[in-house]
Amino acid sequence: MLAAVYHGPNDLRLEERPIPAISPDDVLLKVTSAGICGTDLRILHGGHRKYPAGTVRVPGHEVVGVIAEVGKNVSGVHAGERYIIAPNWGCGHCRQCVSGHNNRCADYSAIGITVDGAFAEYLRLPGASIAQGNLIPLGKDTDPAVATLVEPFACVVRGQEALGGVRPEDVVLVMGAGPIGIMHIMLARLQGARRVIVSEMLPARLSSALAAGADRAVNPQEDDLAAVIAEESDGQGADVIIVAAPAHAAQEQAIALAAIGGRINFFGGLPKDRPIIQADANAIHYKELRVTGTTACSTSDCWKSAAIVKSGRLDFTPVVSRRFPLTQTQAAFAAAEDRSSLKIVIEP
Ligand SMILES: [Zn+2]
Ligand SMILES: [Zn+2]
Repeated sequence: MLAAVYHGPNDLRLEERPIPAISPDDVLLKVTSAGICGTDLRILHGGHRKYPAGTVRVPGHEVVGVIAEVGKNVSGVHAGERYIIAPNWGCGHCRQCVSGHNNRCADYSAIGITVDGAFAEYLRLPGASIAQGNLIPLGKDTDPAVATLVEPFACVVRGQEALGGVRPEDVVLVMGAGPIGIMHIMLARLQGARRVIVSEMLPARLSSALAAGADRAVNPQEDDLAAVIAEESDGQGADVIIVAAPAHAAQEQAIALAAIGGRINFFGGLPKDRPIIQADANAIHYKELRVTGTTACSTSDCWKSAAIVKSGRLDFTPVVSRRFPLTQTQAAFAAAEDRSSLKIVIEP
């Protein structure tokens, strides 16, 4: 089979490899669609802690596929069925795993992160992940390329749940309008937010944000974001702020822009060698802010996300900017690198 294999920083090679052999507990998936994530770009650039020097591995964790072969110990799964894959699984027995947060497990594993992933024609799904419910039925009605967004959207669902959800009275500010920011806008809208404001520096992404349902899209280099928030919130500030941009200034500004009682989620990580921000602790204290962070998603989040995606209540079609065959993986990564597009999907 053809696979895109990471051999080191900026060294991704298209190679012929044997189709993975499965054990009696595993299934073999024929990959239909695989999304390229910011995490994949970090992996490619050698910046992912689960890809230390010397790692040779197939990345890709936003996966939809068809069952090609079923191990003899696996029940309820049949060849030919379509599934979305929840990529993360934990040890299954620690405190985080048993409380449903297998993404927090110290001993977590993940497709495309700790084992070979989806930028290949076939993928072995280990029995341990199947046992944790990581095979989510897709059905026939959803475009598989759109269904690859179930994993990133699960992270979005998790991010907003950490804020206690978005409520109809909330003025919401989303900082950053990449694929994640766009999905935050759509979920906030679905939950009935009073106003959704977006700050983003790239013009193409500002228009995507408006198309996704934002009431107002602001380029903070051209407009005074604080003045816009004041105007849109009767001078109260934003009730919910989601920082979906890896920027110190955005995280610091979020604390200033929040309303009294506001809720903030630091959704995006900062560069690992520069994680310190200057936060106004008195603003957090006197405004009684709730500042939260979320990372990745649990299997449970993926099931919630899949239910929303499959319902058709949100149309993620415009989030998929371009599709590439596996043979054009290099071009696909270049397109993902070019931040004017949203989600890039590889269709082996
Ligand atoms: Zn991802
Ligand atoms: Zn665990």
